[in-house]
Amino acid sequence: MFIISKKRYKYEEYHKEIDNVLYKKCAYHEEIFGEEKWLPCNEDYFYKNPKNKSDGLYPECKECAKVKSIKWSKENYERRKEILSKSQSKPERRDYVNGIKKKQKERGMFTKWRRENKDKVKEYNKLRYHKKHKISNKE
Ligand SMILES: [Zn+2]
Repeated sequence: MFIISKKRYKYEEYHKEIDNVLYKKCAYHEEIFGEEKWLPCNEDYFYKNPKNKSDGLYPECKECAKVKSIKWSKENYERRKEILSKSQSKPERRDYVNGIKKKQKERGMFTKWRRENKDKVKEYNKLRYHKKHKISNKE
């Protein structure tokens, strides 16, 4: 939601100098508070961001950073709660998965048995083949 692509973020659009003081426009203020906000471009109003090569500060002011972090943790909390309740409220899903696992295990065992008893299987298939052909000659 609060994502501004790097290409769209233009330094000139968010910075201006007034009376030899560099001001920076908060990139999120309008979205969060419904109004543009120009603040002195320094660490009193913006958190430090060493990764930002233009001014070394985050694009959002401290006020917005606070709102964002609250919103983020709240959303995260709710998402986690949702995932948790989903996985707990559906035991039949777990049974279903366990059933599949059991079947896969059984199938695996059968494959192993077949591999170890190749001759028996061959014999069995031969018998079955002949049996079928006695009943119908269509094959
Ligand atoms: Zn702001």
